[in-house]
Amino acid sequence: MKKVWWTWDVRMRWAAGFCSSKESFEANYALAVDAASRHGVDAIVIWGFLRDSHGGVDSARRVCEHAHAHGVMILPGVGIDAYGGVYHEGNSPWSLDTYLAEHGQDQAQNADGSPMLHHWPPTAKRARRVGCPSSEALMTYYRDGLDWLTSTFELRGFFIEQGDVGLCQCLQCSARKRTSTLKGGLPNSLDDMARRLPPLIRHALSKRPGMTVLVENYCGISPAETALVAPFLRGFPEEVFHCWQAYDAPGRFEITAESRSPALHGCMAIRSNNDFVGGEIDDRDNIRQANRLGQQAGLDMTYIYGEYPDEWPKTAANYRAWSESARLSR
Ligand SMILES: [Zn+2]
Repeated sequence: MKKVWWTWDVRMRWAAGFCSSKESFEANYALAVDAASRHGVDAIVIWGFLRDSHGGVDSARRVCEHAHAHGVMILPGVGIDAYGGVYHEGNSPWSLDTYLAEHGQDQAQNADGSPMLHHWPPTAKRARRVGCPSSEALMTYYRDGLDWLTSTFELRGFFIEQGDVGLCQCLQCSARKRTSTLKGGLPNSLDDMARRLPPLIRHALSKRPGMTVLVENYCGISPAETALVAPFLRGFPEEVFHCWQAYDAPGRFEITAESRSPALHGCMAIRSNNDFVGGEIDDRDNIRQANRLGQQAGLDMTYIYGEYPDEWPKTAANYRAWSESARLSR
């Protein structure tokens, strides 16, 4: 299986500072890249890749150059209608928040007609604007944004998702059927994902063929979930890696021996050993089991959180168990 580390910049613990400055961002990802190269990790997903507060384009470019020199791909997180678009936070025309401040008609709405906002993480100083999934103007904006992103950093791929931040309640969006996979928290829309992501990915791949593109499905790969999601994946290019969650909390598996990938490529998303799931834990048994079941289901990629340094003993053991079990076949 190809191996990927998935990270949020603000949770990185490789160096001090949680990526709150240019120095911290560059140091965190320099150390993570060096370790990724030692562990045979093919790529690092970075959510919060572009923020003015940690050096914007210049720092992101240095992170990419360092990674490419070490044979590690950087896959920025790209949020469609959420999470800042291609530029997570800052005074850039490619920041969705900046765009929506000037194009209120393209912003998602709450039921009372007020503009929809999303506040993440809880420590963030302010909420971010959310895009309306019915806006065609935004599709042009995202397409151009992806061109800018992939060419500016000579990217070899990206991670893209249709946000899990709640549903737009404007008249057009409300009139549409919306199928959600999220069992708790804010609902998502597979219908919006299937309508919006494939044309954007196809466009990006036409400009830069061969890129590695990961798509978040927000669900496990149990036979029941696969049956729900599969029809929405038909319009995607076949080279895309669809991400399936191994478990919603360590050990509560959402993959079984009967699970089968409905797409040519897929990624076992192992959401373990990070702040989101209770901090550092020894999760080697579940990690091995997830990769074993993932391979049995036909998945050819695996991701795990890469936010903790491999100087931490439990984390190092988890990374080793993950690497070894990803190598069992294929
Ligand atoms: Zn809408």
